[in-house]
Amino acid sequence: MQDTSLYRAWAQVDTDAMRHNLRVVKRVLPGHKQMAIVKAEAYGHGIEGVVKALDNEDIAFFGVATIAEAQRVHDAGCRICPFILGPCFPAEREIIVQHGWRAALSSLEEAEHFNSLGRLYNKKVHLHISVDTGMGRAGLLPNDLPGIGEALGNCEHLDIEGVYSHLSAASDDISFTHRQIRSFERAVKELQTSLALPYRHLCSSSAVFNYSAPSTNMVRLGRILYGYSPMPSPYNKELRNTLTLYSRVTLVRTLPDNHGVSYNHTYITTGPTRVATIGIGFGDGYLHYLSNTGARVYLNGSYCPVLGRITMDQIMVDVSHLSAVEPGDVAEIMGENVPWQELTTRARTIPSNVITSISARVPRVYVP
Ligand SMILES: *Cc1c(COP(=O)(O)O)cnc(C)c1O
Repeated sequence: MQDTSLYRAWAQVDTDAMRHNLRVVKRVLPGHKQMAIVKAEAYGHGIEGVVKALDNEDIAFFGVATIAEAQRVHDAGCRICPFILGPCFPAEREIIVQHGWRAALSSLEEAEHFNSLGRLYNKKVHLHISVDTGMGRAGLLPNDLPGIGEALGNCEHLDIEGVYSHLSAASDDISFTHRQIRSFERAVKELQTSLALPYRHLCSSSAVFNYSAPSTNMVRLGRILYGYSPMPSPYNKELRNTLTLYSRVTLVRTLPDNHGVSYNHTYITTGPTRVATIGIGFGDGYLHYLSNTGARVYLNGSYCPVLGRITMDQIMVDVSHLSAVEPGDVAEIMGENVPWQELTTRARTIPSNVITSISARVPRVYVP
């Protein structure tokens, strides 16, 4: 493992926990293939480190958002093929075809362009039909599906390998989610009259443990892969935390009574206060929104409240109750003791926003 002694802040990534989390889902849904979602730096964990750690697993695709991310999966030397989840620009289609990456299909015009590129490069183009069952973001509308299967079946350079859709409210609108599932089931039935569609996928983390979509045979796993299930489920407690954000104390001082701490003095000491400065701030992804929310770090076996505003590179915490603390001591900023859900609630955002905010300045350290 890397030497972290000179790091001010770093994210320790437990790749074994990721493999474990995939296996938990596999046990619950043994008949479903898995797409591991690695977009946005693999939810802050770092794309290269994650795809290398997962490349020998039983994973069908690595889900990415952009061509640049697909390229990074490719350059990491992965066996598993990237799948670009959203729509692509016309100019991006050529590289997709050349590499044999998987892409989504939202219209017949896209399909025709892909087909002509397939002819040009003499390659099969592997595509998944995206169906908009209610997300309102991409895909063909269910009303546009009649006739599409036949039209696509006639494109000789296309391999229409799958069909998928995305749920918009699985964690809070059960009846709408059931409507989306029924709409997807109808779409699959319709398309299967003319296409084989070996991959059919709808559920991601907020749905895998709580809904069933009988026609599907693959799940897309983002948050659950990284140990966070957004829905109550008996399986949640089996998931393991995959990322711990650490930072080091850089300075310890005693401030006198009535002394302002950090920008604009939103905190003022109420007596002599032992204050530790810690080397992490919003420039590292420790959100400014956490300022004055009761946020705390875990340091030398106890919780220490953050005082005043988060600054770009540093925070100040109250360590008056600690018997010993000195520069170099390691604070847990997020992890087992400070779950990302806690930061999510305090910052009034969503978990994926907290985790994807960890910036490029923070080295990722992988433990096997
Ligand atoms: C990001 C994304 C996912 C992963 O979602 P989680 O809720 O994190 O599992 C799945 N499918 C699509 C289309 C996405 O864009």
